[in-house]
Amino acid sequence: MTDSTTHERLQVAEITADDILFVDDDHFATKNVCIVTGAGSGIGQATALAAAANGLTVLATDIDADGLQATQAKADDLDVAGGVETTVADLTTDADHDRIVDDAAALGTVRYLANVAGIQHIDAVEDFPMEKYDQMHEIMLRAPLSLAKRTIPHIRGTEDGVGAVGNMASVHGHYVTADKVGYNVSKFGLRGLTQSIAAEGGNGLRAFSISTGYVKTPLVTDQIPDTAEQRGISVDEVIEDVMLGQSRVKEMMDPVDVANLFVFGFSSHADHLNGGDLCFDGGMTLTYE
Ligand code: NAD
Repeated sequence: MTDSTTHERLQVAEITADDILFVDDDHFATKNVCIVTGAGSGIGQATALAAAANGLTVLATDIDADGLQATQAKADDLDVAGGVETTVADLTTDADHDRIVDDAAALGTVRYLANVAGIQHIDAVEDFPMEKYDQMHEIMLRAPLSLAKRTIPHIRGTEDGVGAVGNMASVHGHYVTADKVGYNVSKFGLRGLTQSIAAEGGNGLRAFSISTGYVKTPLVTDQIPDTAEQRGISVDEVIEDVMLGQSRVKEMMDPVDVANLFVFGFSSHADHLNGGDLCFDGGMTLTYE
C-alpha cells in the first residue's frame, strides 16, 4: 500500500455510469421524487447523482448554492435517466424544511428521503461549545426528523404506500472516538430515529441507516496533509494508522460506494430492511487485531 502516491490515494475520481449500481425497480421513475440533503458535496452529491441515474427525480438540497450547481452539471455530464432539481436551504431553519418538501412535492410523488448533510467539530467534552453542539444537533438529528415528518405523509398518500427514509449515520453511531461528542451523540441518535420511523413503518414505508468508516470527501481528505504535518508522519501513515488503523480494509471508500448503498436501500430488494443499519466499515467496529 505504501508505494502508492499521496495524490492517487486521496483522489476522488469523477463518477461514471460504470461506478453506479443500477437497480431495476418499478418505483425508480421520473414521476417519483427523492430528496437528498447535503447534495452539494461528497456523499450527498454522489447519492443525488446515483438516484437520478436510476431514473428518479432528485430534489437536491444544500446550504451551498455553488455545490448544488456542480451537482446539476455532473448530472448533465452523466446524462442521467431521471433529473436533478435544486433548492438552496439551511437545515437549521424549520421554514426551509417546509420549502424543501414543498419543492419536492411540486416535482412529483415524494417517496424517498436521504438525510446526508452533516458537519464535524473537534473538542473535548469539557471544552465543547454548546452553540456548536446545538448546530450539529439541528443539522444531523433535528432536521432528519423534521424532514421525515414532512415526507412521510406524502409516502402514505401514494396508492401503494411505498417509500423510505435513509439516514447517513457512521461508525460513530456504533462506537465513539474522543473529542467528537457532538458528532457521536448525533449519529447514535440518528440510528434511534431510524428505528423509530421503522417502528411506525410497514405497509411499504421503511427506514434504514448507513454506517461507514472514512469516505474520501473534501471534509476528510482536506485534513489529511495537515494531520500528517502536525504528527510528523506521512500521509500514508495518517490514512493507514490514524484513520483506518482498526479497519481491515486499508483504503477509504469513494462517495459513490456509499451512494450505491442508498440506491440499494431505497429499492425493492431491500423490502426487509426496516430499522436496520448497512454497516460498511471494512470490519472497523466488529473486529480488532
Ligand atoms: P461534506 O462536507 O462533503 O458534505 C456535507 C454537506 O452538508 C455539505 O455540502 C454542506 O454544505 C452541507 N451542510 C452543512 N451544513 C448545512 C446546513 N446547515 N444546511 C444544509 N446543508 C448543510 O461531507 P461528507 O463527508 O459528504 O458528509 C456527508 C454525511 O456523511 C455527514 O452526515 C457525515 O457525518 C457522514 N459521514 C461521512 C463520513 C466520511 O468519512 N466522509 C463517514 C461517515 C459518515
